[in-house]
Amino acid sequence: MSVDFPLHKTIINNSSIDPNKILPMQYKWARTHYKKGVANNWVPEEVNMQQDIETWRSRDKLSSSERRLILWNMGFFSTAESLTANNIVLAIYKHITNPECRQYLLRQAYEEAVHTDTFIYCCDTLGIDPDEVYNMYQRIPSIRQKDQFVIEMTKSVMDPNFTTVGKENIQKFVHDLVGYYVIMEGIFFYAGFVMMLSFLRRNKMVGIGEQFQFILRDESVHLAFGSDLINTIVDENPSIWTDEFTTDISQNIQKAVEYEYEYAKDCLPHGILGLNSESVKQYIKYIADRRLEKIRLEKLYDTPNPFPWMSEIMDLRKEKNFFETRVTEYQTGGVLQWG
Ligand code: FE
Ligand code: MN
Repeated sequence: MSVDFPLHKTIINNSSIDPNKILPMQYKWARTHYKKGVANNWVPEEVNMQQDIETWRSRDKLSSSERRLILWNMGFFSTAESLTANNIVLAIYKHITNPECRQYLLRQAYEEAVHTDTFIYCCDTLGIDPDEVYNMYQRIPSIRQKDQFVIEMTKSVMDPNFTTVGKENIQKFVHDLVGYYVIMEGIFFYAGFVMMLSFLRRNKMVGIGEQFQFILRDESVHLAFGSDLINTIVDENPSIWTDEFTTDISQNIQKAVEYEYEYAKDCLPHGILGLNSESVKQYIKYIADRRLEKIRLEKLYDTPNPFPWMSEIMDLRKEKNFFETRVTEYQTGGVLQWG
């Protein structure tokens, strides 16, 4: 577990590790997440967009509030997906020398490319002006604020001279991993998920709803990998987990909840689709508690889940699909058992 045993693998700071030698594996969880990703394989063209095209082009099938909600989420996700892909490839991959974790990061990078492709496909099929959508992360303050927060929170690891050697640097690395995995993928995606899946539940814009359902399924694996990664780095470097450090992480998660609420208010100035910004805020708090517990921190809010159907949509991936859409059929093969 420590530098005293140089042949033992560790996730970071292990110069004795040959990054090309994946077997024997030390971290079976990385392999499990990789296999889960493969089993969930999909591409956006598998989703029929015909009903969405008709609805989007009609004058009366969508209210202006519903259009705004869709555009705001397209605006956030279209650029957030490539931000995530760039982070993995340019910043995280370099510092994680463990081969089975790298294998997962390659899979995740591919999935982020699929997600980026999804928004290209949605703009193409619906005839949405790309300039409108792809500039929203600069033009719309509630979207910009979220992206800026993640960029600010993850700037250590983006510095080309950054290394993970030493307690302070390991803390910086874990801090940045929290920014990418827990905050960006684990909190900033979830108001959008709940909004877009509300369309699907109401049988409106089912194509784009299904696309978001596929993305949500992938993102829940990214988040699970990220949490295992963070927890294992902490286990291997227990001295980093000080009260001061964990307080800082909790405070960043609290800030993220506020920014996500601002975003929800901006997307949902009036209640629609059985949603309003207050119920979405409650959901974000519920989600934030789950994220905190996953990285072994105290929960902060203790609010009940206002949208229990969101857990069902995630849990039912191997059973009959909750919305009777086709998502579950695309899970190919069985997930192998490891360990
Ligand atoms: Fe993604
Ligand atoms: Mn992701």
